Amino acid sequence: MTEELLQVNNISKNFAGVQALEGVSFTISRGEIRCLVGENGSGKSTLIKIIAGVYQPSKGEIAFHGKLQGNIRPRNALDAGIQVIYQDFSLFPNLTAAENIALNYQLSRNKKFVNWREVHAIAAEAIKLIEVDLDLDAIVGEMSVADKQLIAISRALLQNAQLIIMDEPTTALTQREIEALFYVIRNLKEKGISILFVSHKLSEVQEIADNIMILRNGIKVADGVSDEFDLAKLAYFMTGREITESSFVYDPAGKSPISILTVKNLTLPGRFFNISFDLKQGEILGIAGLLGSGRTDLALALFGIKPAKSGEVSIEGQQVHIRNIQDAMRFKIGYVPEDRLTEGLFLKQSIGRNTIIRILDRAIGWLGLISPKKFKEQIAIWVKRLRIKTNDPGLPVASLSGGNQQRVVLGKWLASNPKVLILNGPTVGVDIGSKMELHELIKELARKGLGTLILSDDLPELMHTCNRILLMRNGRIVEEFTTGDITEQELNQKITESIA
Ligand code: ADP
Ligand code: MG
Repeated sequence: MTEELLQVNNISKNFAGVQALEGVSFTISRGEIRCLVGENGSGKSTLIKIIAGVYQPSKGEIAFHGKLQGNIRPRNALDAGIQVIYQDFSLFPNLTAAENIALNYQLSRNKKFVNWREVHAIAAEAIKLIEVDLDLDAIVGEMSVADKQLIAISRALLQNAQLIIMDEPTTALTQREIEALFYVIRNLKEKGISILFVSHKLSEVQEIADNIMILRNGIKVADGVSDEFDLAKLAYFMTGREITESSFVYDPAGKSPISILTVKNLTLPGRFFNISFDLKQGEILGIAGLLGSGRTDLALALFGIKPAKSGEVSIEGQQVHIRNIQDAMRFKIGYVPEDRLTEGLFLKQSIGRNTIIRILDRAIGWLGLISPKKFKEQIAIWVKRLRIKTNDPGLPVASLSGGNQQRVVLGKWLASNPKVLILNGPTVGVDIGSKMELHELIKELARKGLGTLILSDDLPELMHTCNRILLMRNGRIVEEFTTGDITEQELNQKITESIA
């Protein structure tokens, strides 16, 4: 029998009634890149913390290098060469890169005094190991997330890491930085170092994994070599459902649908110029474009946050003047911002209150007050209609997962019966299962007559949910596509052409 670096046997973990893990077993051998996949809340971080000795399991056992461990303390895991890189990296922001990389190492050798010249030399050796170039004298607090990550990896290597566990390491990275990280990871593998890579992003998992295991509700539901899984299968195991997304068919059913939002020559100097388009009832119109294309400014103008300087906006054929948010809301325009956490929700308030806050405003306006009974009834209706997963709408919104928070934001607007809904990055940070459900919800609303504008960088999202897509570049609409007439690759090509 080969001696495994890490053996996890039948681990369960219970937090005061929440079964976070149930009977999870797996092994990691030398030089293996193993990916741990699962939706938010599936138990990934809990599993890591048990391996690292931060939490004690309720049941089960763990062996390092073939040796069964009793109660694991963080020190035991470190001594066994197991290093966890958490999402915050646990670095000292006021120290330099070199100091962050080498100080622990120096301290661990029980030196009374820190030899600063040595610190630099040690750090230089460490980054050579991962074949990257870093400014060792830079202050870590001022470095990019990607560089901080490399510092954390180098520091782990100096402490003799044999298994490096990375918890959602790509969350804040650009595509290019992810490629750079993968290069480092493959390099580590060649040196015989094992990686446990935790993620819920399926395409990157497929790219980097030797082996993949999937957690769902704390139970390991699949485990195998990477080639055995395609995206559909991964998504199936992760969510427990077949996920096939159909494209949106806009069907005015022979009738000539009314224009719900008509925009003519809308201009905000320096931001966008001569924007004209027509959104019909029941349409989902996408707006694609690179950062700085003027998309968000246009959305903010339509919602009255940063009003346009000239041009016309009409709702159902009636010209309107949108000078502020109150105007936009009066004309039944809703806006779900990109950063729901800071813009869209009152996080500490209850789920229910957030969901119906708009109708609440209205009801108060009409009646002067609203009865607690009516308030509760309305909340129950919307929580159900939007399939918000909560046992208690009285809990704060902050307790919900990203997908469910996004539903609350949607609910907040839908409760006020908008005619036009503008969604900016509606599923950023939402996991795949919830994402498909949100798309279905958006399509369902369109079929009921809502006119929707979606701003998104997520091309599959635009392709699956919109019937038409406008491409913006430098503040202007440069092209328009019918979704059925273009492939995702072609759309991508068109968008990136604008850099040249
Ligand atoms: P993941 O990392 O996959 O998103 P977690 O391991 O963080 O999932 O969480 C798994 C489950 O355990 C969740 O239901 C979460 O709410 C619960 N949980 C995690 N940590 C704690 C804790 N310290 N106390 C109580 N419940 C917890
Ligand atoms: Mg986690």
